[in-house]
Amino acid sequence: MTSAHLGLDLGGTNIKWVVLESDGPLPRVADTGQVPTDTSRGEQSVVEQLVALAGDSVHRVGRIESVGVGVPGLYDPVTGATRFIPNVPGTWAGVEVAAQVSAAVVAPARLINDARAFTLAEHRLGAGRGVDSMLGITLGTGVGGGLILGGSLYMGRDGTGGEFGHQTIVADGALCGCGNRGCLETLAKADAIVAACGLATVAESVEAARAGDGRAREGLTAAGRYLGIGVCNVAVLLGVDRVVVGGGVAAAGDLLFEPMREELRRRVFITDVAAIDIVGAELGIWAGAIGAALCAAEVTSSVG
Ligand SMILES: [Zn+2]
Repeated sequence: MTSAHLGLDLGGTNIKWVVLESDGPLPRVADTGQVPTDTSRGEQSVVEQLVALAGDSVHRVGRIESVGVGVPGLYDPVTGATRFIPNVPGTWAGVEVAAQVSAAVVAPARLINDARAFTLAEHRLGAGRGVDSMLGITLGTGVGGGLILGGSLYMGRDGTGGEFGHQTIVADGALCGCGNRGCLETLAKADAIVAACGLATVAESVEAARAGDGRAREGLTAAGRYLGIGVCNVAVLLGVDRVVVGGGVAAAGDLLFEPMREELRRRVFITDVAAIDIVGAELGIWAGAIGAALCAAEVTSSVG
């Protein structure tokens, strides 16, 4: 029997959704779409949009078994309420998003961090297929991450396991949005890269670097080195098999990946770094929504 699972991916610019259909070991993407995020009334209009999109899906599909909502921030996994979402306007502390979406579809709903959702999707259906352990990295406005350990998404104590971008790289570095100083995110987020490259956007920086611009090349190499140091820390601590890099900034490809690989070769001697792949993601802009749907589907099927 075929079951349908909805994934919603809340972003600062768009809300994306996918419907996964499952009647075997691997689900398939049956439907996708996106709408601009409506922040006209802060978090209220955003939550109304999520509820409406979930309701629309039930109308189209007939019955939804579960809903996963990917959020670009932190949440309480017990209550399904958001805690901190820095890049979507609104007052997000204590907003019971999962309960409201669940009521709209009459099915269980759960929240997941968007980078953890990306990681799960790439492991099950994308560039991480088949490996036992994987680090997922999302590069964009911020630096997100997620971990697959022993084939399962590792959530940590409260859903924050795998926060790759908030490891300290510089002891007294720049202040990070999380409150710490010197986080990897302060060195490798899009704003940091364009500042180092002396250009307006990451796309311009990548284009200039490919055309041979010295400052742009150095800016991207520096970001890649910092990301590589972060990967070294994860590699020695957890012995991951593969690193999958996605998000808009990952379009820089080997301009970032090569200095990352170089840091692994320079710093890690306790394991064979030649066996650790650093590769680009495969699922494109839908990875977050797919992973949110998978997360809810896997929890639902393991419970029932
Ligand atoms: Zn931080």
